[in-house]
Amino acid sequence: MSKALKRFFAIGLSKAIFREITDALVIFSMSFLTYMLIAEWGGLSILRNVLRLEIETPSPLYFCGVALVVYSMRRIGDQRRERAKRVAAEQDAYLASTRDPLTQLPNRRQFQVEVSTALKNSKRTMSVLLLGLNHFKQLNEVYGHLGCDEALSQIGSRIRDSANSGDVFARIGDDEFALCLAGMDPENALRVAGTLLDVVNKPVQIGIEHHSVSASIGIVQVGRGHTTVDELLRCAHVALSRARNGKVDCCFFDPNMDAHVRARALLEKDLREAIGGYGIRPHYQPIVDLRTRRIVGFESLARWHHPINGLIAPNTFIPLAEELGLMNVLSEQLFGDSCREATNWPEYVSLSFNFSSTQLSDKNFAQNVLTILADTGLPPYRLEAEITESAIVSDFEATRHVIRTLRNAGVRIVIDDFGTGYSGLSQLYELRFDKLKVDKRFIQEIGKSSESDIFMRAIFGLCKGLDLCVTAEGIENIAQADAAFAYGAHQGQGFLFSKAVPADTVPQLLIGFPQAKFVA
Ligand code: C2E
Ligand code: CA
Ligand code: CA
Repeated sequence: MSKALKRFFAIGLSKAIFREITDALVIFSMSFLTYMLIAEWGGLSILRNVLRLEIETPSPLYFCGVALVVYSMRRIGDQRRERAKRVAAEQDAYLASTRDPLTQLPNRRQFQVEVSTALKNSKRTMSVLLLGLNHFKQLNEVYGHLGCDEALSQIGSRIRDSANSGDVFARIGDDEFALCLAGMDPENALRVAGTLLDVVNKPVQIGIEHHSVSASIGIVQVGRGHTTVDELLRCAHVALSRARNGKVDCCFFDPNMDAHVRARALLEKDLREAIGGYGIRPHYQPIVDLRTRRIVGFESLARWHHPINGLIAPNTFIPLAEELGLMNVLSEQLFGDSCREATNWPEYVSLSFNFSSTQLSDKNFAQNVLTILADTGLPPYRLEAEITESAIVSDFEATRHVIRTLRNAGVRIVIDDFGTGYSGLSQLYELRFDKLKVDKRFIQEIGKSSESDIFMRAIFGLCKGLDLCVTAEGIENIAQADAAFAYGAHQGQGFLFSKAVPADTVPQLLIGFPQAKFVA
């Protein structure tokens, strides 16, 4: 059959019908050909004798009959095969719709079906445990998708092996697994959560490397019926976030958490709008030379004037901006503004700016800082980049790279909140920084205990030995200023001198210093 004809048939009819027609044509032509050949070679009379036929010559219709039988048998065979294929395909489709292809655990849909059936049974009470892997994004960044898949399938097998035969469990999200237990016994839920964490919190092998894994669990318990699976999972998520934020392994859902979640969602929306509308502005707190009591610099501190809630402190919105991935945009706005403002100050007055830990791991960070300095015209030597001790500990290598680039360009590096980040001073010193700020909590302890005196002597002794400039933070009274100076602090900062003020108040502060009340 010509290609054009085949295409004509194929377009007009389905593949199966096309096959059946060609099949029939082939079988009937073969039968007719066989008839012709037998007739040609005189085989018809032999056939008549063998089959004891009454008629003179067997008609071609006999051959059509045979062809019909062959054709029917082939069709029956085809149908049987089709049916088997359909059953297999249906089974595959059912599995695909109820299983997670990576871990082979039941998927979210299956979990929903099973738990909602249980919920409909109004006599049942249950506990739902939602296990979330911590820092899974980092695993993705380090090992890529394939590595993550490997880790997830190992974790999935561990969860399957640890579950009891009657438990409903599933992988319900990228890095989330859920388990539904019968009953509302909190102790039992905690015991099961403990077992789950024990099996999950073990290193996974990715290629030749072992990577440690940790997880948190949110637990929600439901009495007789009256809720949906979506609502249960939402509550379990709230509890899981609470566990993560509180850095605890497990947390039970409590209805009060909902109010907190709504408030946070509102704050999140407002924060996005505030950043989009340049609604967060820098204020400036003076840094004073403790010997001369003159202003030698200003620290830029972010202030958010919320239209309804008033002034919101950075300790509330900076961590939120970091979590939402908005810190780069916010910091760029604040840093650009601060640099422009600082160009109006006298040459000897420096600008201190806080950089957050999430920014340090961005490989373009140091270059961006230098570009903003160049664009605003603030010379690098007038900038003091404040990096917290805890940021350094969280990513030592990235911080080392940033510090090297900035220092080479002339920027001074300051270790902020010293004494709170559990790093060793020797490790910090390896980074080559210029200045250290002793956290206000130590300054405010001065004179209150002998331990604080020992601590201060130790810190200042080391700083003197390493020839480091030291700023004492949080000086609220003259006694603290004097004591910090006596220990060896070169500079001081605190409410005694001034709170952070808006940009237009800075000139007044510069003119007003030194004020008699600060001089001992
Ligand atoms: P920080 O860098 O340690 O800033 C010093 C904090 O201590 C400021 O709080 C300041 O107002 C407060 N402070 C200063 N003197 C005194 C005092 O005498 N007594 C007391 N009790 N507190 C004093 P603030 O402005 O609320 O900032 C809190 C933290 O938020 C800052 O701590 C800093 O880590 C962060 N932050 C502020 N602005 C920015 C920013 O633009 N970027 C980043 N990444 N972090 C910022
Ligand atoms: Ca600071
Ligand atoms: Ca500080």
